[in-house]
Amino acid sequence: MSNWQKQWIDSVTAPVVLAERFGVDTRALDDVVQRYPMRITPYYLDLIEQPGDAIWRQCVPDARELLPCAEDCDPLHEERLSPVPLLVHRYPDRVLLLASGQCAVYCRFCTRKRKVGCPIMGVTDEALEAALDYIARTVQIRDVILSGGDPLLLEDDRLEKLLHRLRAVPHVEMIRIGSRVPVTLPERITEGLCSMLRRYHPLYFNTHFNHPSELTPQAMEACRRLADAGLPLGNQTVLLRGVNDSPAIMQRLVRGLLKIRVRPYYLHHMDLAAGTGHFRTRIETGLDIVAALRGPVSGLAVPHYVIDSPGGKGKIPLLPEYLVRLGDTALLRTPSGETITFPNSEM
Ligand SMILES: *Cc1c(COP(=O)(O)O)cnc(C)c1O
Ligand code: SF4
Repeated sequence: MSNWQKQWIDSVTAPVVLAERFGVDTRALDDVVQRYPMRITPYYLDLIEQPGDAIWRQCVPDARELLPCAEDCDPLHEERLSPVPLLVHRYPDRVLLLASGQCAVYCRFCTRKRKVGCPIMGVTDEALEAALDYIARTVQIRDVILSGGDPLLLEDDRLEKLLHRLRAVPHVEMIRIGSRVPVTLPERITEGLCSMLRRYHPLYFNTHFNHPSELTPQAMEACRRLADAGLPLGNQTVLLRGVNDSPAIMQRLVRGLLKIRVRPYYLHHMDLAAGTGHFRTRIETGLDIVAALRGPVSGLAVPHYVIDSPGGKGKIPLLPEYLVRLGDTALLRTPSGETITFPNSEM
């Protein structure tokens, strides 16, 4: 068994372990983990400095997950957009392939918490075969995004088999891997994995850092290996109340990401998923953060702030208001708040 698999098996899956380690009362959490599983790798657990901090909130179950709520279990209607199990086909030229049902850490804010880590995720060889078959016969698909769960919890040979099959489809021009293991289980990013991945270019990698204290030497090394293997690295952050909902934290996060060659890609507003309401911020919070990044930090570090529209209607980009008025003379607002005019004619 490899090192990362040992770490995964040694993960904490019962709240009582947290009670012993941190001296807090976790009895109310047993009901939560019945419904939404818990898993925290030893590595990620070590990043917790005290109960209630940004790492804790992301991975430790919270009684509020079971509050009755108006939210949907599947707000993005992924099941309805699924032509065959394990595929979400919302945009014509790209699909999500849910290649693994498991993650290194079960994030409490996860949009797919209705099924990650649960048997209903349904990742079986037959289902994967049917999904590959759909991709092979759907010629509009240019871009396949491996997601889950976390596709990097597949062992190297299973992952390679999948990449090999996708590469053999002539219309699949590129493959993306969406994985949180650089953040939660960085040992998974071995030299062996990277030398396998580099044989399947063009291969892109999106990871998921939410807070600057996740930028550890181990996470940096994982990203260095991936970048050295030629994978362009992007990052998707979820805007989380009590975790990263401040301009100062986001500035540190995005600057830290650029330093390790990871380009901030999306800042996601929380989806309306059941059991995650306590993480939701107002939209103004996200707009203020984007406004605080635009100007003070490299343009490369500014992610697109998006809301994934309920009902599966796609991602909606949101920007602070820079365009005041069009016309023969446009009225624009600069990032520092000045209003200027700009001629708007073709000569
Ligand atoms: C976000 C998403 C994608 C990828 O979108 P990009 O904007 O190309 O990164 C593809 N399919 C689904 C269902 C998505 O939610
Ligand atoms: S790693 Fe991704 S899929 Fe897994 S629990 Fe976290 S957000 Fe959800």
